[in-house]
Amino acid sequence: MKRELKRLALDEGAAAVGTASADRLGSVPSMDPNYLLQGARSIVSVMLPLDEEHLRRYLSKEDRDSLEHHEVEVYRELYRIGQKVVSLLHSNGYRAVVAEPNLDYRYKDTPEYTKTPHRVKQGVMDWFASESGWLVTRIKEKLFKPLYYRDVATTDWNLTPSFSHRYGAVAAGIGNFGWSGNVLHPDHGARVLYNTVITDAPLKSDPFMKETTCDGCRYCARVCQSGMIHMKDTDKVKIGRKTFTHNKKAHNLRCVLVCGGLSGQSMHKGWSTWSPGRITVPETDDHIETFWNDFVLENGWKHNYYSKVLTNLVYHAEHGFIRRCEDRMRTTCGFCQFVCSRTRMERKENYEAILASGEVVEGPGFSFRVVKN
Ligand code: SF4
Ligand code: SF4
Repeated sequence: MKRELKRLALDEGAAAVGTASADRLGSVPSMDPNYLLQGARSIVSVMLPLDEEHLRRYLSKEDRDSLEHHEVEVYRELYRIGQKVVSLLHSNGYRAVVAEPNLDYRYKDTPEYTKTPHRVKQGVMDWFASESGWLVTRIKEKLFKPLYYRDVATTDWNLTPSFSHRYGAVAAGIGNFGWSGNVLHPDHGARVLYNTVITDAPLKSDPFMKETTCDGCRYCARVCQSGMIHMKDTDKVKIGRKTFTHNKKAHNLRCVLVCGGLSGQSMHKGWSTWSPGRITVPETDDHIETFWNDFVLENGWKHNYYSKVLTNLVYHAEHGFIRRCEDRMRTTCGFCQFVCSRTRMERKENYEAILASGEVVEGPGFSFRVVKN
């Protein structure tokens, strides 16, 4: 069965596929496969690489849209391959589900979050961010605070995914952690995407991957405008009987502020991500949730770049990549992952391309342009 599943995934185009039994999973909540399938006994992890040329043009700020569309296509492809694996498992009498490949968080399933239908939440956020006259804007300002506090209480900033594809890939032996916490493949570095099928079929674990592509260069930390990736401090995660080490990541809101598109430049001047936002992310995490709340209360009801990003974040928190019905995705960062090619020479070139790429600045009507220094 296992051999047949792996053959199918590879025939369907997966660049790597591996399996892990449930006893290897579960040391942290996002590794628990029972969340998506009660009685799960194993997982199948699949991987596809991102296109090098799209990444080169993205990092040097020649072209953003191509990578964004490409990422969505790769996620859809991973989902399609996962569905094929699910069909084969079903036809052999097993239960199986394919996970959403990204942007699928557990807090969305809590009774508090689902109390207000998403279309209502989305409609209200879009209305707040829309253009309005003086009087309506004043009404929005008054209404925003109580509504925001009612809603934000349902968001868990741990952002626990329904299933962590990174942990799944390591458990299934098709990748290994880098310093960034991203999962690297020997042929592609961190420039890969993963997805996971969860099943009650009793599949045995593949061996852990022995090779690690990470040589500790820290380019991942150096290209992070949010300070999310620590240069020295470490964190450990246990998968099966093996303990893995990567950097001690800071609060998730750092990445939400930068990768989410609200700030394109905070820690490093002279270059930016693809975002024209310019919030300065706090130096420490001590009051970062208060900082976030104050920022949203200041901007959520205005018709500006930030409110537009905020309403798009609400949209994608709900729809992920597969079920979305319109295109609101804006890729602005991901630099810690995209800088991390297979060899150090390539990583250095990527880093230098980012430093020389210039800054993205806002133009009229929510447009933006690249300014080369
Ligand atoms: S950029 Fe360097 S330090 Fe960071 S994960 Fe990749 S190889 Fe490791
Ligand atoms: S995606 Fe961007 S902001 Fe988030 S950790 Fe990576 S480099 Fe930092």
